[in-house]
Amino acid sequence: MQNRTEGIIVCEKCGKENYAYATYCAYCGNSFYKDIYKGLRKRNVFVTLLLFFLPFVILFYIVNYEVSANFEKHIKTSLDYSVEVNARIMKSFLEEREKNLLSINQIEFSDINEIKRKSDTFIQFLKNNEWFDFIAVADTDGEIIFSSIPIKANISNREYFKKALTGELFNSSIFYSDILHRNALVLSAPLFNQSRKIIGVVIVSVNLTKFYSLILDLRMGKTSEIFLVDEQGKFLSPSKLGGEVLKEAGYYQKEPNPHQGEGKVITHRDYRGEKVLCAYRRFSRPNWYLVSEIDIKEALAPVNSLKRIILVIFIIFGTFLFSSAIFFSNQITNLLKSLTSNLKSAFDDISSKKALIDKINVELRNKLKECENLSKKLGASERYIKSIIDSITSAMLAIDKNHFITYYNNFAKNFFKIPDGKKNLNLFEISPLFADEEIKNKIEGVFTNNISFIIEKKTVVIDGNSYILNISGFPVESGEGVHSVALLINDITAYENMRTQMADYEKLSALSQLALGAAHEINNPLLGITSFLEMLIEEEVDIEKKTRAKEVLENAYRISETIRGLLNFARPAPPKFTKVNLNDLINETISFLHHQPLFKKIKFQKNLSDTLPPITADINQIRQVLVNILLNAAQAIEDKGTITVSTSKIKFEDLVEVKISDTGVGIPEENLKRIFEPFFTTKKGKGTGLGLSISLTYIKNHNGNIIISSKVGEGTEVKITLPIRHEGRIASEVIDE
Ligand code: ADP
Ligand code: MG
Repeated sequence: MQNRTEGIIVCEKCGKENYAYATYCAYCGNSFYKDIYKGLRKRNVFVTLLLFFLPFVILFYIVNYEVSANFEKHIKTSLDYSVEVNARIMKSFLEEREKNLLSINQIEFSDINEIKRKSDTFIQFLKNNEWFDFIAVADTDGEIIFSSIPIKANISNREYFKKALTGELFNSSIFYSDILHRNALVLSAPLFNQSRKIIGVVIVSVNLTKFYSLILDLRMGKTSEIFLVDEQGKFLSPSKLGGEVLKEAGYYQKEPNPHQGEGKVITHRDYRGEKVLCAYRRFSRPNWYLVSEIDIKEALAPVNSLKRIILVIFIIFGTFLFSSAIFFSNQITNLLKSLTSNLKSAFDDISSKKALIDKINVELRNKLKECENLSKKLGASERYIKSIIDSITSAMLAIDKNHFITYYNNFAKNFFKIPDGKKNLNLFEISPLFADEEIKNKIEGVFTNNISFIIEKKTVVIDGNSYILNISGFPVESGEGVHSVALLINDITAYENMRTQMADYEKLSALSQLALGAAHEINNPLLGITSFLEMLIEEEVDIEKKTRAKEVLENAYRISETIRGLLNFARPAPPKFTKVNLNDLINETISFLHHQPLFKKIKFQKNLSDTLPPITADINQIRQVLVNILLNAAQAIEDKGTITVSTSKIKFEDLVEVKISDTGVGIPEENLKRIFEPFFTTKKGKGTGLGLSISLTYIKNHNGNIIISSKVGEGTEVKITLPIRHEGRIASEVIDE
């Protein structure tokens, strides 16, 4: 049988899995149903026969054990009855015969001779009693003195003589008489004289033919018979089926006589060896058994014939039923077969479809995998694009028709300070900017007319800060028109500021060129003036005039100094590394600056190291750095304040350090990280925002660094570190100016 488990059937021929209830293997064609039908047919026939057999077996049992037992009992009763009746008849017959004998026995004779003389009496007696066929008289010596047929014999040793001589009436069994030369049943009695003395014995023999005719046949079939046997089982009466009187001991020679006891009904094998039903009675005088029997076969013949009839019916019906069971079983099986064949074709159909479905499933699975991979890639690319969009430094927002924000990037989140995780945000909620009529109308225009817009350089104020923004909006379309608007907001404030500052810077640059020219123009005549004044002072004798001239010369020197400073500061020159004494440079720069009006309020404090080594540097660049930083410090001091400049050699390192600290306003935390950015300024129109960025570039050119620390309201400290030797050069190699 195939192994049918949930949902599948495994073919035992090829081991492949099929649908449960498939009729044959879709792979090797092995049929799964042959054995089922075979078994089904067998079972059908078996059950039908069982249903038929059972009542028959019961019927048979009833007939066999109930009917035949009852029948047997009935027969036995009949047999018993027949022996009973016959026994009674015989008994009374013998009693009658004894009575007959007594009638003659009563006659008294004087002596034996009188008996001889009166022999007629006996002959007459024989004539009167037709049941007797012989009569004889013997004397006390046993000599036959008279007999109905002539015999000469002495019977003194015979039992019937001896018994009679004792005065008894004797009834012999049936025996073969050698006197009569035939079978005989003898009765004997004593004969008396007047004085009651036994003078002889009278002997009669019963006519056996007549006696036998008394026995009433049972008249039951052919094998029923009644007969007499003696204790040894010898037949005393002729038997119907061939038992011979006094000759046959029948079967009893092999077996003990079954007819023992007073009487019974038994089953045994008789003289012929046949099994018989038998009833018997014992006579006590003489010791006889009257036996009535019938062959069991015949006795039970009706029952047996009933059994045979049942058997015949059984066979006929059985054959009929068997063939009809096979027939109907076949019909049912065939019906089922045709049903299964229909089912089979249905399942075949399913199987072929299943194969198709399997194929489709495999394809679907592959497609699904592809889809998964695609969606993974898509997710990755979405994340990638999102990260790109998030990394751009413009705010990006998408809104739907109801102005709800459907998307915003990181920049937008920070710019508009959109709180985390807030949903259903309205565009107008996040910033008043969008409430601006122009922007509002443009956005509506995108939705209604599907045209993008750009508003350039829109100046707005957000949280008190002024911004310049480029705002553009694009339609996001689907099949049903514009469903969203993407807004791109570019903060161009810094760029615009830079542009303004660049203009300022251009102006300054031009101014510095002009100043340079002017300085040259001033410097040359000034040289003449100072030389003349020096000469004049030398020659002048008037002390007052001399003093005045000296004052003028002083002022001329100052002018010259200022102009030199200006020239030094503004003169564009390629970097030139020389040995520079930082302390001297600082002194020179401060003396140049402290005449400037900006520095009027400033008190300079100098802590210059005596042991500071000269460094290799471009003196102009370092000077400009110092000027820039000192200018910033002075600008940071609003009222009055101190600028402290200190120099030192850093211990154990090949570096020197210049520290310039002021007592100005300080730099707020958020600005501190931006002050080195080009064009970053807080001086609104008065600054270029380039001072520190240029300074850092110069110092970095020297492999040095600038570190600025500050506290709002306390002041700022600028620390410049510079290597003593510039890369590849040592101080001694440098050509002096
Ligand atoms: P500018 O001086 O033209 O503004 P800078 O590059 O020199 O440009 O300086 C940038 C900004 O750094 C200044 O606008 C100012 O806000 C700040 N700053 C620089 N030095 C100081 C200082 N010593 N004290 C306070 N603020 C300073
Ligand atoms: Mg500056």
